[in-house]
Amino acid sequence: MKKFPQRYIDRIKQMIPESEWDLFFDKVTEPLPKAIRLKNDEDLRYLNENGWTLTPTAIKEGFFIDREDRGQRALGKTLPHFTGQVYVQSLSSMLPVKVLNPQPDEKILDLCAAPGSKTSFIAQKMGNSGTIIANEVSGSRSKKLVANLKRMGVLNTVVTQTDGVAISAFLGQEFDKVLLDAPCSSEGFGRRDAKFFEKMWSEKKIFTAAKLQKKLIKSAFEMLGLDGVMVYSTCTSAPEENEFVVQHLLETYPHEAELLTFELPSGIPARKGLSEFEGTPIDPQIAEKVYRIYPHLQNQQWNSESFFVALIAKKRSIQKPPPKKPVIREPIEIYKKNKQAEIITRLAKTFGIPKDTLKHLPSGQKVVLVEKNNDLFVTTRSAAAFCQKNLFRRIGLKILDKDRNITNQFAMSYGQFATKNYYECSEREKNKWLSGFDLHLKTPIAVDGTPIIVRFQTFVIGYGKVQKNGTKLKNKLDRDIVMANY
Ligand code: SAM
Repeated sequence: MKKFPQRYIDRIKQMIPESEWDLFFDKVTEPLPKAIRLKNDEDLRYLNENGWTLTPTAIKEGFFIDREDRGQRALGKTLPHFTGQVYVQSLSSMLPVKVLNPQPDEKILDLCAAPGSKTSFIAQKMGNSGTIIANEVSGSRSKKLVANLKRMGVLNTVVTQTDGVAISAFLGQEFDKVLLDAPCSSEGFGRRDAKFFEKMWSEKKIFTAAKLQKKLIKSAFEMLGLDGVMVYSTCTSAPEENEFVVQHLLETYPHEAELLTFELPSGIPARKGLSEFEGTPIDPQIAEKVYRIYPHLQNQQWNSESFFVALIAKKRSIQKPPPKKPVIREPIEIYKKNKQAEIITRLAKTFGIPKDTLKHLPSGQKVVLVEKNNDLFVTTRSAAAFCQKNLFRRIGLKILDKDRNITNQFAMSYGQFATKNYYECSEREKNKWLSGFDLHLKTPIAVDGTPIIVRFQTFVIGYGKVQKNGTKLKNKLDRDIVMANY
């Protein structure tokens, strides 16, 4: 018999009809089906051919994924995952991005961004154009965010590591869109750990989270531009962290904030918001316009943890002091045309990559090169402009290191276009390579010191350097991404 704290039971009983109570408590700790987000359909084919079954969901980019022989290699160790074509992500976690509806060239703030599931989806929707500011307060979680953005080949994103409440003092009302995927009491976590409600749940955590959320939603709204829209989401069902937080914002900015009506993708069995909780009435427009997702409302296209999502617009600018100017100790250099052309010509020559591919995004927008502490990054002009005026942890994609060697991110992002200085591995070599070993070649492939992009089938799996009179390919995969026991 599953155990739930009595307070949790009493609270849930106020949120859903009595006829659903048994089903709810059955499903709230049922393990979530594994779901992924795909970057493109090519990978669907690869995964299908390698024994995975992918089932479409209510989110176009999202699939349930399963495999008959579950003893086989984990999804996290497959090539589509390694090369950033696949992101393991629950369906509800994809939902706020669908509601935000990012467009190319927008300037978007993701205020609580780690580990980057939504940031990388936003970048995918924007085709890597425009700017995303991905902020995260925790150092260790920012590290995970940066690692995921690297793996996913995201170049339009600036990572900042600041308290989401304090950051609004440094920024104007400058974003087209803001996502506040708030830290919460995470009741949705019950579907990842069945002991969650017994061991980790407490009403106190809900009240503590709600306090921070009220500050964060106010701060997020203060950075939203006029006519911009903001998504507020949590993976919890507690009304104090959902409807009451939205209500707090509407009360704080009654003339500026407007709650919007919106549609969810079809096939999602969502409910509207609550109209009261524990005897306290909730603004009727909130009950009407926000969505709640519950674990027991499932169908073939949808199965997720508890979730909440609201969409808010800024109809009038707020009164706010001018942004404070941070002290920038390590300024960046945005390369001028000639300096950029020199680097691009050298890379294009070395690998036989068309110059245009290095100069532009696939959508045609020009990219810029930015130097910080002697490392060289590729990013968008608007992201670089943000970094000239603000403190940040990471910008775009690093393409050259201090010694002007290419990086694995360069190889992964541009290696598919190389027409020279690449090496196609056999299956056996690919396994050795991904375990971090050098390759020993029967015939010399290039002069010593030449950088070589390493490919297997349609995947770029890193870069190496030629040694031993052309017969050894020194493995240059970053040690932190070498897949142990691949
Ligand atoms: N949006 C993320 C994703 O999809 O991968 C998940 C975000 S998670 C729900 C909330 C995040 O907010 C956590 O990483 C947490 O460390 C961070 N956080 C907590 N307090 C914060 C604050 N005051 N400012 C900014 N981030 C904060």
